[in-house]
Amino acid sequence: MPVLVLNASLQPLSVIPERRLIVLLSKQKVAFVDERARQVILDAIEARRVLTDEPVIVQLLANVRVPRMMLRPTRSNILLRDEETCQYCGKHMRELTLDHVLPRSRGGQSTWENLVACCRACNGRKGNRLPKEVGMHLIRQPHALDHEYATFFLLRYPRLREAYESFLSSAQVG
Ligand SMILES: [Zn+2]
Repeated sequence: MPVLVLNASLQPLSVIPERRLIVLLSKQKVAFVDERARQVILDAIEARRVLTDEPVIVQLLANVRVPRMMLRPTRSNILLRDEETCQYCGKHMRELTLDHVLPRSRGGQSTWENLVACCRACNGRKGNRLPKEVGMHLIRQPHALDHEYATFFLLRYPRLREAYESFLSSAQVG
């Protein structure tokens, strides 16, 4: 069960495994953001049971300063940013290639802004041309993943992300 740790300011900080949560709890560094979850987890820890699958969010009691982490435009990071979706036809699939929007043969660089996830069919159709030369369009403008470390991490945990977003919206209403 992955656990999302928020800074005291509610900024996501990291996703930690359950055993790390137990350490933070014993040092009284964190509090649960949801009272019901608190009871369930504490009971489970007490009984040494396997914890629930439900996403769990805890909050640090004291704010910590986090340095920004620069992420490199590696293949896996590009696929993660593009949610494994071809950026031309919008198909979601496992088998994706990377496309240089401005082709390498024309001086295109391997940067966050010039690399997108692309299916084989679209890659074949585009070849060494610009999208507009073959009537293709990017479904969104590629940008660097410059979020804070854990916001990026949340992409790997859709259920935690969902729980975090609904927590944020309820926090704003309250
Ligand atoms: Zn495609």
